[in-house]
Amino acid sequence: MRLFIPHEYHKSIHDIDLVKLYDSGKRLILTDLDNTLVGYDISLPTAEIILFKEKCEKIGMKLVIISNNKEPRVKMFAEKLGVEYHSSAKKPLKRSYKRLTRDYNPNDVVIIGDQIFTDIFGGNRMNFYTILVDVINYNNELFKTRLNRFFEKIVVKIFKIKGEK
Ligand SMILES: [Mg+2]
Repeated sequence: MRLFIPHEYHKSIHDIDLVKLYDSGKRLILTDLDNTLVGYDISLPTAEIILFKEKCEKIGMKLVIISNNKEPRVKMFAEKLGVEYHSSAKKPLKRSYKRLTRDYNPNDVVIIGDQIFTDIFGGNRMNFYTILVDVINYNNELFKTRLNRFFEKIVVKIFKIKGEK
């Protein structure tokens, strides 16, 4: 169960306290793309996302995109944003995480994503620090993702109940 619970939860990536992450030793942020940075239907980084990336770098953290989506979509977005990327990552499998974090201690790595069964589960398995954010655009999702969502809602419910004291 622990593997499905994020360390932090926010409505949006813009609510994340980046300075706090840096102060606790985090140096690399591996972020999901679709429905985490922008909706599925947005092909290029928005001004807000460009600011987010600049803020990460200014504070001293590297931002890298890790996505299960295909090369053309991820490449175009990441190159425009000026960050490294890994497409068709097959999250939550460990292989691409390992490749991207070779030079880092697991304690230095942050995962950001909107899906518990790929982003959060995958990150927790690697002992990274995991941050769940709300889905940006629910309507355009594929069926498979919708199915995941169904189970996620259950987990989030449990998480919220656990969080209530
Ligand atoms: Mg996503």
